[in-house]
Amino acid sequence: MRALTLVADRKLELRELPAPPPPGAGEVQIRVKAIALNHIDVWGWRGMAFAKRKLPLVVGAEATGEIAMVGAGATGIKIGDQVVMYGAITCGTCKACREGRDNLCENVSGVMGFHIDGFARDLLNMPVRLVIPVPTGIRARDAACAPIAFATVQHMLFDNAKLEPGETVLVHAGGSGIGTAAITMAKSIGATVITTVGDDAKTEKAKALGADHVINYRTERFEGLVRKITARKGVDVVFEHVGAETFNGSLLCLRRGGRLVTCGATSGPSTSLNLMQLFQQQYRIIGSFGASIRNIRESLAKMAAGMLPVIDTEVALADFERGLARLESRQVFGKIVVTF
Ligand SMILES: [Zn+2]
Repeated sequence: MRALTLVADRKLELRELPAPPPPGAGEVQIRVKAIALNHIDVWGWRGMAFAKRKLPLVVGAEATGEIAMVGAGATGIKIGDQVVMYGAITCGTCKACREGRDNLCENVSGVMGFHIDGFARDLLNMPVRLVIPVPTGIRARDAACAPIAFATVQHMLFDNAKLEPGETVLVHAGGSGIGTAAITMAKSIGATVITTVGDDAKTEKAKALGADHVINYRTERFEGLVRKITARKGVDVVFEHVGAETFNGSLLCLRRGGRLVTCGATSGPSTSLNLMQLFQQQYRIIGSFGASIRNIRESLAKMAAGMLPVIDTEVALADFERGLARLESRQVFGKIVVTF
C-alpha cells in the first residue's frame, strides 16, 4: 500500500509499505479516502526541535475513510461505512476520557501525523472507539474537515468561549481553514462577526461567507477599527490563532470581561502581557487544543444539516507537499483537501 512519509525536514517520500494485518479485537481497518491539511502538518513538515518523534513518520492528521474490515467485538459498524477518525490515540480509561474530555487524556500517545504515524496511507487499523460514523450524504472532501477544522472551532467557540446569539466575535485570519469555519458557525447562531484577512481579494469572499465586517490587517490597524465598529465597547469574544503578530491587539479589542480563545501561533509563539490590563479588564484567556469526540459528532451533524466547509483546493496524494507550501504561504481561502 502507499504511505506518504516524512523522512527529513521538508522531505516527503511516497513509499510502498506492507498492508496492515487484519484488525485485532476492538479494532477496525479503514481505507483512507481524503485528508485535510492543517497548520500542524506545516509545523511537522518544517520540523520542530522539541517535538518527541521518530522519522520516518506517516503524515496526515485529519482524515476520512471507509471501513474495510471489522475486528472481533468491534460493534456498531460494518464494512463500507464512511467514518472519520479521532486524530490522537487516547487511553479511553482515564478520568478525562471517561468524562468525554478526550483532548485532555492523561495518557495520550501522541497526535497522529505529528508525533506518531498518521493517515496518509491507503489502509490503517484503529480502535473502533476512536472512529466516528459519517451521516449519509456528506462527501468525503467535506467529512475530512470534521475531526480537526470543524471540531476545533466547535470546541473553541461553544465549549470554551461560550459564544452566544447576539454577541460579537472577532475572528482572526478569516480566510484560513478554521477561520472560515468560525465565521460560518458564529453566524449560524446569530452572532455578529468581525474578521481580519491578509489581502483584499479575501474581503469579498469573507463577506460572502457571512462576515459582517472585514478588516485587512496588513493595511489597517484592526484594534482601532474593531473599537470603532463596536462603538468603543469591544467584542465579547476573540477567536485567536495568529499569535505574536495579533495577540496584544486582540486583547485591546475585548470588552471588559470578554473572552479570548486561542488554538494557534502561526506568526510566532511568544508575546508579553500587561497583567494590570488582564485583571482590571477581567479578561478570560482560554487555551484550546483539539476537540472531543462529541465535538466531531456535533460537526458532522452540522454538515448533515447543510453547513459545509469552504474548500480552497483539492490535490492528489502525490501533490501533498504542494498543498503544504500553499498553506504555509497563507494564500488560501478555506481548506486544502488531499484525495486518494
Ligand atoms: Zn485517557
